[in-house]
Amino acid sequence: MKKVIIGAAWPYVNGDLHPGHIAGYNLPADIFTRYQRLIGNEVMLVSGADCYGTPITLQADKEGTTPEQIVQKYAPRTKELLCDIYKTSYDIFTQTHTKIHNLIVQIFFLNLLKNGYITRKFTRQYYSERDNRFYPDRYVEGECMYCHAKDQRADQCESCGRTLIPGELVNPKAKLTGSEVALKETEHYFFSLSSFKERLKNYLYSKKDIWREWVWKETEKWINELEDRSLTRDLDWGVEIPVEYMDEKDIVDHVENKRLYVWFDAVIGYFSASFVLKFGDKFDSINDLMPVFNEFVSKYWDSDDIDLVHYLFVGQDNLFFHTIWWPALLMGQEINLKLPDNVVVNYFLNLEGQKFSKSRGIYINARELVNTYGLDAVRYYLIRINPENSSTHWYWDDFKDRINNELVATLGNFVHRTLVFYAKYLGNSISLENVQVDYEVKSIINSLFVDFYGNDGFDGLIGKARFKDALDKLMDLARFGNLFFDRCAPWKSVKEDTKSCANAIYNCLHLILAISLLISIFLPDAGSKLAKIFYVDFLYERYSNRLFQMYDDDYLDTLIRENLLTIPSDLAPLFNKIDKIIKV
Ligand SMILES: [Zn+2]
Repeated sequence: MKKVIIGAAWPYVNGDLHPGHIAGYNLPADIFTRYQRLIGNEVMLVSGADCYGTPITLQADKEGTTPEQIVQKYAPRTKELLCDIYKTSYDIFTQTHTKIHNLIVQIFFLNLLKNGYITRKFTRQYYSERDNRFYPDRYVEGECMYCHAKDQRADQCESCGRTLIPGELVNPKAKLTGSEVALKETEHYFFSLSSFKERLKNYLYSKKDIWREWVWKETEKWINELEDRSLTRDLDWGVEIPVEYMDEKDIVDHVENKRLYVWFDAVIGYFSASFVLKFGDKFDSINDLMPVFNEFVSKYWDSDDIDLVHYLFVGQDNLFFHTIWWPALLMGQEINLKLPDNVVVNYFLNLEGQKFSKSRGIYINARELVNTYGLDAVRYYLIRINPENSSTHWYWDDFKDRINNELVATLGNFVHRTLVFYAKYLGNSISLENVQVDYEVKSIINSLFVDFYGNDGFDGLIGKARFKDALDKLMDLARFGNLFFDRCAPWKSVKEDTKSCANAIYNCLHLILAISLLISIFLPDAGSKLAKIFYVDFLYERYSNRLFQMYDDDYLDTLIRENLLTIPSDLAPLFNKIDKIIKV
């Protein structure tokens, strides 16, 4: 049994998520997790709300409230959407704005400091004497020194389109208070990312055959351009610098006005959330935490433990922070921490050729989408168009076509016609002396289970996060099943040749049983309906992690012989056809 820690990206909670977020990291992480559970591994799927950083403080300003209240407003909504509506099987969905997360982030910072990976540098930032504080660029407005447009943000001029750096505004003022601001030197802590170049290269080269090719290449590019990055900001919202555990000589001026930046704290969430799952969150201080901290590391984050597997699922905007930054932070702890085995990065999902943008109306309400079309239909389409190796687009017409032609006409139809026929015309029973598994049926089922662990086997595809291809293996069984059903024409033989009719349905049931064993990782609602019909949980238990052995010729016979396979004659179809698109 492996111990598998799976991290899905931590969404900022400054608004509602759209289907691009689901397709980007949430759904892939969930499929992988459900599969790991199915094969009997000890699994932790961890994530939470990313509460710090300027997206949160800006939203608070926009709504005239505090960052704390933005978190309280949006974090539960995000959690409900992901956990209840999309049935993401998180073991924990927490947030970064918790005592325990703050303590663990501080431990990471102190270790980097102790190990010599933190330097101090002065940077120039806008400061208001009157307000007695520094302002991030986005909080400062003034006249563009190039085109002289008024009221431009300090990081970009909307009028001439130039990216601006501090110092390129005439008469800069603080947006919130109108106070004059001027550039002032401020000292910050920097992480010596460049000193990890060789170690990061070795790490990357060890993942050549595992990571997606484009992710690997993009990471290689980053490694050649590593620069030290600041770990702190002049802000009052974020994790505090643990001065009480630091030497006087290491403390910068005005440290009380600085916070560890969101880049640093958010990725540590994978560690802190998995810690909470095992040891809870009842700790008051770093000293309180340290004894179990080491115990936790040795059980779940020790890189010499061959039973440990760590996977991360993120969107393309997060690539650097998960393939470079996070591994370097882990290395910098110098306690032999486990690095991610795979960082599964997706491109963006767009909407009919444009980027999702709620303010410009290019948007799908993720919640209404499931309410209108059902979870399985939404998940099916998002897997089909998953941006694994390039950006993809949600097209409403394509959604309708794929649901109607593939999910309903292929998978749903095959299952429904077989089960209803078995109930209605065979009275939920088959005489087993007269039937046998057809050669072709046997071989297509074997093609799923025999080379299960091969590179292109089901397990191999899941391991490489090739979820579309893995789902196709199940759809192949349904496609074949429909052809087989048509060829055998049981609706004719039921009158003329009852043995051949029973044999046809018996073989179709074998195909559906095989599909039932794996479909729940993709389509949980259909999966649980089929699991009930075929008592699949019993099989999982009997074969535990030996999934490839789970497909068992005798099992279906047992169900039929014991009269356990009873289908209600008014069985509802697994999926519903979409008659008309309602854009939500
Ligand atoms: Zn300008």
